[in-house]
Order: sequence, then C-alpha cells, then structure tokens
Amino acid sequence: MPPRDLAAHVQQLARLEVGAFQVREPLARHCSWRIGGPADVLVEPESAAQVARLVRFARRHAIPLLTIGQGTNLLFDDTGVRGIVLKLGARMAHLEIDGRRIRAEAGVWVPHLARQAAKAGLGGLEHIIGIPGTLGGLVLMNGGSQRRGIGENVRRVWAIDPEGNERILGPEDCAFSYRHSALQEMGAIVVRAELECEAGDPGEIRRAMVRDLRERRRKFPRKEPNCGSVFLSTAEMHASVGPPGKIIEEAGLKGTRIGGAEVSPRHANFIVNRGGASAADVLALIAHIRRVVFARIGFDLRCEVRYVDPQGRLMPADQAPSADFHS
Ligand SMILES: Cc1cc2nc3c(=O)[nH]c(=O)nc-3n(C[C@H](O)[C@H](O)[C@H](O)COP(=O)(O)OP(=O)(O)OC[C@H]3O[C@@H](n4cnc5c(N)ncnc54)[C@H](O)[C@@H]3O)c2cc1C
Repeated sequence: MPPRDLAAHVQQLARLEVGAFQVREPLARHCSWRIGGPADVLVEPESAAQVARLVRFARRHAIPLLTIGQGTNLLFDDTGVRGIVLKLGARMAHLEIDGRRIRAEAGVWVPHLARQAAKAGLGGLEHIIGIPGTLGGLVLMNGGSQRRGIGENVRRVWAIDPEGNERILGPEDCAFSYRHSALQEMGAIVVRAELECEAGDPGEIRRAMVRDLRERRRKFPRKEPNCGSVFLSTAEMHASVGPPGKIIEEAGLKGTRIGGAEVSPRHANFIVNRGGASAADVLALIAHIRRVVFARIGFDLRCEVRYVDPQGRLMPADQAPSADFHS
C-alpha cells in the first residue's frame, strides 16, 4: 500500500477493532524459515467475528489479504507483502473435548492438540504430533504424516468466505486429497474445526507419539530454521522414482549451498537457513535441485512449500518465477 493509504487504513483498522495489529511487521518473525520482508500490516484477530470484519474491510478497500498460521509451510518474498497479513495463532486457540469429538479454533498449536487427544484417550491423531503448525493450516493443507491426512478426522469446518460470511462445511465440501483441500480454491479462512477420533488407550497413544517424535529427531535437521519437506512426495512418485529425499541425495545434492540456503546434509528434502538466507537464495536452490534431478532422471519435482509473492498471492514454490528451472 502507498504510505498515505497505509496510514489511513491503519486508523480505520484501529476503529474497527479487528484484533491486535502491527505496521511494517517483518514476516521473518512469523515463519519457521526466518525469511521474508515486512507486511504492510499484520493483524491477529481473537474471534471469528473479527476475522469476518477484517475480510469485509479488505474487500471494500481492495486490499490484498493473506491468512497465515505459524508460517511453517511458507516462503515469504524478500520484499514482504503489500497488504494485510491475517495471522490466526495463539489468540484464537480454544479447544474443547466432548466424548470422541474435539472442537478447536484454527490457531491451536498442532502438537498441543495431539497431546490433549492422547490425554483424553483419543486415537487417530498420533501422526500429527510432530507437525509444528496450527490446526487451520493443517486442515487447509490436509497435512499429516505416515501417508495420512487430518481430513480423515474432520467432521465440520467453520470458515469465513471471501465475502466475509461464516459458513459451516462438511468433509464432502472440503474434498480432502493428498496435501490438498477444496478450501484452498474457495479462499476460505478456517476459524474452527471439529474432529472425530477413535477411543484408545492413553498409554499406547502416547508411546506411538514418542516413537514418531524420536524418529523425526533422528531424521530431520534440528537446529537450523527450515520449512519441513520442500518437495511433494506422492504415492505414485514413491512407486515410480522413490521419495524426494532419496532422489535428491542420489543426485549428490546434499550440502549444496546458494547464499544462506543449504540442502540439509541430514535430510535432502529439507532446505535449511544457515544464517541470512533470502527467499531468492531458497528459490534459486529449488530451481537448481529441480534442474539437476530432471536432467538425471527426467522427473519434475513439485513443491509442497508455498511461496507468497509481494501481492500476498500463494503458489507452490516451484511456480515462483525464479524457481523455474527451464530459465
Ligand atoms: C520441521 C517441520 C516438519 C513438518 N512436518 C510436516 C509433516 O509431517 N506433515 C505435514 O503435512 N506438514 C509438515 N510440515 C509443514 C507444516 O507444518 C504444515 O503444513 C502445517 O499444517 C502448516 O501450518 P501453519 O499454521 O504453519 O500454516 P502456514 O504455513 O502459516 O500456512 C500454510 C497454508 O495454510 C493457509 N492457512 C493457514 N492458516 C489458515 C487458516 N486458519 N485458514 C485458511 N488458511 C490457512 C496459508 O494461507 C497457507 O496457504 C512441517 C514443517 C516443519 C517446519
């Protein structure tokens, strides 16, 4: 936003009471890669009503609006976002358990949700214990591990649509598939979800979670900022060429570095920030990996990680103009 518009909109936002907000807030503080320039405004609402008000405000003034959780699957541009970033995190994180159902707000921290389920003897969420994002991001991405997705447990989603209306959606509306949901095309903002679990033994559930965390600690980089798996790993891909980590490792790319971005020597499907990495470094490294792998085995790697351009638009990072390996 031009500075004069920004100042006027900030005054209006303060009057609208849409939650706490910061102006020119560095997005590197709001993502696990620790990369990204400033958002014009970053707002943290505390209720679905505030989210709806903010959506209507942005729409009325034609201001780009991007929703984020903990930014654990996002690469923000080095110039940041010219618009409003709506963060649903700790300020919207209420959770309640009713029998085998869990109702939780979008900002609930996924490992906390998994632990609460274990404590209540609710099974089926063991695979999400090590995922460091929010429930909203997990539902939108149909995230999960061990070839599972949270969509298996979702019974209802409360969302704000692009017009600022609240909608209640069932699993059939969400059309969950591998690391995808129809919520992405709808432009829906998840504010709350209801999950159904299986009755189980708390001790057994906890032991399964400990095993998962131990395995992650053994395999994944621990210290350097990262965004989890960079490239998608589908069942078809496993069957034809194998998982991305193995393909990238076999191409001899472990430890390859561009600027501050490095293919993790621990797990080749992770790119770590060795200090001062820029989005440009990460995108150049993604393009390099794709180019080398394509030349070697003729397979076009696609990204799970999403790039956010300066207009707040999201796309798989391989679709960012500078990640195009043909150029
Ligand atoms: C170390 C590490 C390990 C990981 N392991 C896994 C794993 O095993 N499995 C897996 O699936 N992922 C994994 N991830 C990726 C990531 O944690 C998940 O995709 C997570 O669900 C993203 O949640 P988030 O809150 O950080 O979302 P963000 O990264 O902030 O956003 C991701 C997407 O969700 C959207 N979004 C976020 N919140 C909402 C909302 N409330 N409503 C609508 N849209 C929203 C954003 O617009 C964006 O499109 C890992 C990441 C890291 C860093």
